[in-house]
Amino acid sequence: MLIKKFAELSRYAVLPVLLIGLVGLSLVMRGSAFAKAFPYYHTFVLYFAMITLERVYTYSRGVSQKHMIWRDLISTAVETFVAGGIMAAMVLPVLHYFPNTFLGRRFLFGLSDQLGPLWVQILVVLLFASFFSYWVHRLEHTNEFLWKLHGYHHSVTSLQISNVLVSNPFEWALRNVMGGLLLGIVGFNPIAIVIAGGLNIYGDFSHCGSDLKGGWLNYIFNTPEVHRWHHSVEFPDDKKFRYGCNYGVGVSFWDILFGTFYLPKDEKGQVMAPLSLGHPSGYADEPNYLKILLGARAFPSIERFFERKKDDLSSMPAE
Ligand SMILES: [Zn+2]
Ligand SMILES: [Zn+2]
Repeated sequence: MLIKKFAELSRYAVLPVLLIGLVGLSLVMRGSAFAKAFPYYHTFVLYFAMITLERVYTYSRGVSQKHMIWRDLISTAVETFVAGGIMAAMVLPVLHYFPNTFLGRRFLFGLSDQLGPLWVQILVVLLFASFFSYWVHRLEHTNEFLWKLHGYHHSVTSLQISNVLVSNPFEWALRNVMGGLLLGIVGFNPIAIVIAGGLNIYGDFSHCGSDLKGGWLNYIFNTPEVHRWHHSVEFPDDKKFRYGCNYGVGVSFWDILFGTFYLPKDEKGQVMAPLSLGHPSGYADEPNYLKILLGARAFPSIERFFERKKDDLSSMPAE
């Protein structure tokens, strides 16, 4: 009985303990020889912890994603190593051009030391970046073209840490990288942006496929319980949720503030979970990463090219 109670309570404790542990680890390791030699160690620790949790606290409505493992791995690698860099290369010259040309100065508001101490800048960066991501994400659900690109992320049928970065790289970078670039141009200290980016690991928590409870953290962070409703096949039955709910990337307070937060509870006060996850229009999960990369759903000619290829392959005589 006591063990059962402890196991139930631990479902509430795991997320905050993990968050504190990971932030503590990065502070301890900052500047160390190991961190310099292996800069992505943090991501590996995070993924290892999440995968372990998915096996310990199994989610009863979880659907196996094993057959998507290559799609997930390629998408994760592209998003991690390529998408942000390409977005920066495309956008930075344009963002530099405007203040330079029209305002006669390099930055819009000033130099980094004029914008306050580092910790204040980290806080402002975290707030602004999450505010920006919230609105871009919301736009991706209402704009037809962006929704076709973002829809690939919504085709997954189960939340798993392995598919947190499954998305078209353009829409992903628009949502996750663009805010940081804008802040750099405004003149925020690049160190503040990098540290805020590191602290932003709670964004990955949203796709932990385990049956963990958020408790009061649901009202600050986009926990798995909150984010599952964002991926629900059925949208909540209310006009204000006709494009979806819980748009926050990493955090949930912008949803609460702007009226898009949805987290129903049963009569015992327990958070309810959606019956099934997937694309609201019934699009199947896309195993072909090339289609996701090229955004085939948004470009009919590309979609037709893939259809023709499929027809050619199926009409080939069997040996
Ligand atoms: Zn979405
Ligand atoms: Zn998601």
